[in-house]
Amino acid sequence: MRKILIVGNWKMHLNVQESSLLAHRLDERIKIHRNIEVVLAPSFLALQPLSMQIDRRKFRLAAQDAYQKDEGAYTGAVSFTMMDGLVHYVIIGHSERRLYFHETLGVVRDKVAAAIRNNISPILCVGETKTEREAGHTRRVIHDQLTTALANVTSEEIDRIVIAYEPVWAIGTGDPEKPGDVAQVVTWIRNIVAELYGAKVAEAMRVIYGASVEPEFVGGLLSIDGVDGFLVGGASLHYYKFSEIVAAAERLQHEQTKKGNVIA
Ligand code: PEP
Repeated sequence: MRKILIVGNWKMHLNVQESSLLAHRLDERIKIHRNIEVVLAPSFLALQPLSMQIDRRKFRLAAQDAYQKDEGAYTGAVSFTMMDGLVHYVIIGHSERRLYFHETLGVVRDKVAAAIRNNISPILCVGETKTEREAGHTRRVIHDQLTTALANVTSEEIDRIVIAYEPVWAIGTGDPEKPGDVAQVVTWIRNIVAELYGAKVAEAMRVIYGASVEPEFVGGLLSIDGVDGFLVGGASLHYYKFSEIVAAAERLQHEQTKKGNVIA
């Protein structure tokens, strides 16, 4: 069974003190869940202090990005090598990185390889823009993003990867994509992974959804076959919303287990 994964991407918000306060508030509200993995992605600056503060039975840390070279004369850059042991995950290929920092398919591919080389699991973001969607290119865009990003990932390494499907046009709008459409794209993603690595790998891979996830949408989105959790942006900055997203996922999981037991 694939474990539910809920990631809070704090983006370029919160200084170290504010990050610590948010982590503290989340710790008060979020219980230890055996079957749900909760991940916090603060700024680079807050990673080290939070690594000492968090209860590791409840939370894991993710970086929001890193540079693809391991070390060298790259002023201002932070490498995956520097974060070995500090973070469990790294978000790679977020649409904001692709848009504002001009990250190409090749850069995303190199970052995925660098993360794996440094024992950090990539949360690889893929998703179409509004224009691409309206032109009917969603499947092709996702295919290109996935096949290039995974180009250097071997079948021994692929189980480290999580795919985050994020329809770019729905990010930050308060209005997530319709469940039927999410289901379609998540099926495409698994089919592409199956073509590359086989059906077993595709079935085992975690695919999470991101874009305007709020507590009230958790039930509908997590009930979609093949959706294994969320990448949460805006709502992850509010302790009551993020903890409610985790609690709603836990309730749904509990109900489904009960139903499964009755049917069995
Ligand atoms: C995101 O940017 O990855 C995201 C999911 O943002 P939001 O939840 O705010 O739509």
